[in-house]
Amino acid sequence: MDRRVVGVETEFGLAHRGGERRGLPPEEAARYLFRPVLDWGRSSNVFIPNGSRLYLDVGSHPEYATAECDRLTDLIASDRAGELIMHDLALRAEQTMAADGYAGTLYLLKNNIDSQGNSYGSHENYLIPRTTHFRRLSTILLPFLVTRQLLAGAGRIVPAADGRGAHWAFSQRADHMWEGISSATTRARPIINTRDEPHADAGVHRRLHVIVGDSNMSETTQLLRFGSTDLVLRMIEAGVPLGDFELEDPIAAIRTISHDLTGTATVPTRDGRRVTAVDVQSALLDRSRRFVAEHGAHHEHVDAVLELWERTLQAVSSGDHTLIEADIDWAIKKRTVEDVAARGGLPLDAPRLTQVDMAYHDVHPERGLFRMLERRGRATRLVDDDAVRRATVDPPATTRASLRGRFLSTARAFGVEHQVDWVQHKLVERPLEALMLKDPLAVEEPRLESLLDKLGDRAARLQELDIEQRAAQPGPLALSERYRVRDAPPPDPPLI
Ligand code: ATP
Ligand code: MG
Ligand code: MG
Repeated sequence: MDRRVVGVETEFGLAHRGGERRGLPPEEAARYLFRPVLDWGRSSNVFIPNGSRLYLDVGSHPEYATAECDRLTDLIASDRAGELIMHDLALRAEQTMAADGYAGTLYLLKNNIDSQGNSYGSHENYLIPRTTHFRRLSTILLPFLVTRQLLAGAGRIVPAADGRGAHWAFSQRADHMWEGISSATTRARPIINTRDEPHADAGVHRRLHVIVGDSNMSETTQLLRFGSTDLVLRMIEAGVPLGDFELEDPIAAIRTISHDLTGTATVPTRDGRRVTAVDVQSALLDRSRRFVAEHGAHHEHVDAVLELWERTLQAVSSGDHTLIEADIDWAIKKRTVEDVAARGGLPLDAPRLTQVDMAYHDVHPERGLFRMLERRGRATRLVDDDAVRRATVDPPATTRASLRGRFLSTARAFGVEHQVDWVQHKLVERPLEALMLKDPLAVEEPRLESLLDKLGDRAARLQELDIEQRAAQPGPLALSERYRVRDAPPPDPPLI
């Protein structure tokens, strides 16, 4: 597939710290957080005009699923737009909570484990041809995903337990995965989820649902995570022989690998060898390089993906983590934590360092530690603030999300009741004309245009509305106003 549709879902952690009183439990804080969403869409499961989905299931982990993207920078911008949207909801929730007598601070964390040890996810969705042989896919993809944490782990300080002292792990999710492949998502948490909901023509496509990844703060880490996975999928789809790294026990392996920052721990393969994570990744990187040399680069970031992939494996195998300390989440965070530890003479299990670990994932644009590092040039950026701000309002232009966005904005502008999901577009007053858009790459659909035309001339004019005007419409979008009119951000407080 030359153009692959990809989307990422992020579940956020919530913590409310009260002023005088104890903070509200996360479930209640989540209800406050989603109040404007409910007011806006009369549901806690809504699609918004940037083409993405906001969702609150029972429990306390609000979710943002990006629109379908086929360009990596769009995906990164859309994901980051989700952080802004959630942050804006958090600011509003703080106000309503304070008015109800629960003054305090609401922390929204883009990480994968809360202080009780519950885990929540960052799911990737890749469009793949239905013809891809699933057994072949999984024998290659599983070892790749089990070892991909070297490239894309968010890093974690593991507290002392079972006779082992506090130490670093690559991944937050690794210890919370229970199966290689299955159709469950929560109970048996598999690496690849096989529930067959393609949101596309089921005769032609599948949606590969990968639920093993850590949430990423770093844009370059995201580029490597999605970019390398896409390359491996391309090779699988092209039938390239990729060696045999099928693991004896993927779940035992993912844990062993996570807890060994030297990358030298070996894990058994099904055919009786022992391999390291670096062995598996290096082989797939080499093969990818050859594949790209033979077939050409299929997007503008392929070289950057390959370069960062190689540099990251070098950093792990040489132990010189400075090579990637501005580019890969676990290394960026580790360096920051180590700076703080050195300054205060703190051991790795000091509670202060666990706080720094948490603060790294705080999505607050001013308070969040990762954002501060970024402003100080200690984390590489790929999309600018303006692109992110636009992505809170504008859907990606090259997928059907652009049609969904326009349908939603238009229907709302006319105050017409409507229903939307990844494929469906329906005006409640015209149920027989409901449209299913099964091609995720469709950007033109005459039937959708004629449906909108029935709402009147303003539909045409709405297309001309620029971002400023659309941002001023009420609803979750009003949030972007804050970013538009705000003066220069206040100076950063000291890092620690
Ligand atoms: P739930 O969270 O309700 O369990 P889910 O995890 O299966 O459902 P959603 O949360 O609805 O799925 O998110 C779907 C994700 O898949 C979005 O990021 C979306 O952009 C992406 N997506 C939609 N259609 C496709 C497709 N055909 N191929 C790949 N990705 C897709
Ligand atoms: Mg989801
Ligand atoms: Mg999911």
